[in-house]
Amino acid sequence: MNDIESELLDIVSQVRMHLEYQKMLGMRSIELIPAVTASPTDKADAPSSANKEQTPAIKKEKVPKTEKLGPCLSAGLAAVREDLGNCSRCKLHKGRKNIVFGEGDPNAVLVFVGEGPGYEEDQQGRPFVGAAGQLLTDIIVKGIKLRREDVYICNIVKCRPPNNRNPEPDEISACEPFLLKQLEAIKPKIIIALGNIAAKTLLKTGEGITSLRGRWQTYHGIAVMPTFHPAYLLRNPKDKALVWEDIKKVIMEMDKIRKG
Ligand code: SF4
Repeated sequence: MNDIESELLDIVSQVRMHLEYQKMLGMRSIELIPAVTASPTDKADAPSSANKEQTPAIKKEKVPKTEKLGPCLSAGLAAVREDLGNCSRCKLHKGRKNIVFGEGDPNAVLVFVGEGPGYEEDQQGRPFVGAAGQLLTDIIVKGIKLRREDVYICNIVKCRPPNNRNPEPDEISACEPFLLKQLEAIKPKIIIALGNIAAKTLLKTGEGITSLRGRWQTYHGIAVMPTFHPAYLLRNPKDKALVWEDIKKVIMEMDKIRKG
């Protein structure tokens, strides 16, 4: 098989995975929009300034003015964001540049929850955009065979802890209610908890990620798979194999959900 054939097969496989994922979300049909090519005839038929008044105006949809909140914000998530406001409920607000609310599919079946924004995330107002974010994107795209925008990505705390220290208990307590509201709006079937802080916070346990990872748990009725944080994997690449074991369990569970 040559390179082009294998690339085509890869594209077909990714399209199939995406359609199956959309089906799992309840999509029953695909709207085909014919390509429109302007031709000289089209131009000739175009309304002149004289008959412009009879031409119905094309109304542009209002795009809500938000921070960088990802491609789509459902009404439920928008309400949570509005409720959060210019939050100063904990001391992390003092050093942040941006609130990193989260981004992705507002109806995602799969949600990734990390610990908190780092420098790059704070600068851009988006979760997981640095080197660890690239690794997470690889896990989603190459491992799970979804697009990054098919899942939802957020953190336990939405403002960057100074010097990337761990978020403190009072900060977690102040911010977690908003994570819970986000999850209630999204209604995912599976959460992947990335790293110690995310796993301990969601599962209300003192157990560390090394013993928690790879074992299904629940958070408010949602299945949770704890695994190592991508930033940890950058420092300990040998443990990528363990994360792949965990991700394979998630893929199997998503398969089951897909098949009903
Ligand atoms: Fe508010 Fe959460 Fe930021 Fe604290 S971390 S200021 S609770 S948004």
